[in-house]
Amino acid sequence: MASTMEKIVSLCKRRGFIFQSSEIYGGLKASYDYGPLGVELKKNIKETWWSDMVHCRNDIVGLDCSIVMHPDVWKASGHLAGFSDPLVDCKNCKERFRADQAPRTEAGTEVEFREGGKSSGSKLKGVVDKRGYVCPVCGCPDLSAERQFNLMFRTSIGPVDPLQEIADAAGELADLDMKGRMKKLHEIVARSAVYLRPETAQGMFVNFKNILDSSRVKPPFGIAQVGKSYRNEITTSNLTFRTCEFEQMEMEYFVKPGEDEQWYDYWRNTRLSWYVKLGLSQDKLRLRDHKQSELAHYAKACADIEYYFPFENQDGEGEWGELEGIANRTDYDLKKHSGFTGKDLSYFDPETKERYIPYVIEPAAGADRAALAFLCDAFDEEIVPTAKGGEEVRTVLRFHPKIAPVKVAVFPLVKRDGMPEKSQAIMDDLLSTGINCFYDHGGAIGRRYRRQDEAGTPYCLTVDSQTIEDDTVTIRDRDTMQQERIPMNGVVEIMKKRIGN
Ligand SMILES: [Zn+2]
Repeated sequence: MASTMEKIVSLCKRRGFIFQSSEIYGGLKASYDYGPLGVELKKNIKETWWSDMVHCRNDIVGLDCSIVMHPDVWKASGHLAGFSDPLVDCKNCKERFRADQAPRTEAGTEVEFREGGKSSGSKLKGVVDKRGYVCPVCGCPDLSAERQFNLMFRTSIGPVDPLQEIADAAGELADLDMKGRMKKLHEIVARSAVYLRPETAQGMFVNFKNILDSSRVKPPFGIAQVGKSYRNEITTSNLTFRTCEFEQMEMEYFVKPGEDEQWYDYWRNTRLSWYVKLGLSQDKLRLRDHKQSELAHYAKACADIEYYFPFENQDGEGEWGELEGIANRTDYDLKKHSGFTGKDLSYFDPETKERYIPYVIEPAAGADRAALAFLCDAFDEEIVPTAKGGEEVRTVLRFHPKIAPVKVAVFPLVKRDGMPEKSQAIMDDLLSTGINCFYDHGGAIGRRYRRQDEAGTPYCLTVDSQTIEDDTVTIRDRDTMQQERIPMNGVVEIMKKRIGN
């Protein structure tokens, strides 16, 4: 028996939601392409987010930043830290830390630590190796080699290939020891190195002053952005859950210090209810607060909105996965960028004559993960009777009409007696209003309904012999499979009302 995820992956490919990237070349790991139905689903999610976050409020403005930014942005944000400083993994508690900041212990010392770094773990012993330090979290001396890590995709700007410069410096490099050689190589590469952004958030922080000066905003206000981000993580994952290239829907909300906690609560609740409003099952959603030990050093508080995906694991099916993080980032980012650039990133309130650096509440959502969650949640199979008196499995995607890729399908019952002409007239009306619709005249009507069920199309309109007599058509509801007759000339208005446009 195929697992739920296997069925969803197969449906995604069969119906054109999601394909493996570069499939005819054998595929590229953790990269995916959205087909005709998938791109509509994801676009609907992003547009609904933008509409709810920007257009339906007067305290949030939009922004669209470059993917490649000044490399110093990533120094200030801390993303480049692991690049120049070697990092080490603790084999006991899995912490990754900077070697130069680890607590020093004399080589050869016997130390005690807890298994897994947990207080409930049994006591273990180990000996400190010649590097002379232990894990800063659990005190374990069993550590990986020191390595340069970089989760950012690096490329170079300018026409000269850095490899050419390295080749030119070959003689100089040969005279250096390993440490010196790495340092020199980094220097050469750094001259032209730029990075694909690992998050959209920094674009909002570095444009904070531009927006303050140009847009007549004042705290509390937000800056929203939807765009691609890149993280060089070699991981295998469930379909699009974790990919190197992904699309974010992020908003940075700038508030007066002291008002941050109330806004943090506000955004936790507002964002959770957004998913419910768009139809995600409430019992498969939760808000998980980060423990103090999980928090990034700059965050005062953080919570994840998680969805219970049907991922397979050793206990069967089902696993909580993050859809969105809501963080209280304090004034950390603005202060960092202010420190690196020397630019004043404070806000002066002309009414109270107060000057302060705003605190930031950040709801950061993933568009790909949201699309995957909506797909998994919409997926359903039910046993239905067939026309011949038997039974069959009906596969249906129960999307909320707002995010359904195709809103309505139009069928002539048969390809004669004026039915195709009437159907085409309905199609023309729908197309002229921009309602995404689909025309299908092939095969038995039951099969055509099933094909639309699988695509998640909420409504099907059928032109039959009665249409020719009285200009009414049947409208069939995807979820109840009930049909009713409506006037042909009222189709556009009825559809607009039902899909909430
Ligand atoms: Zn450790």
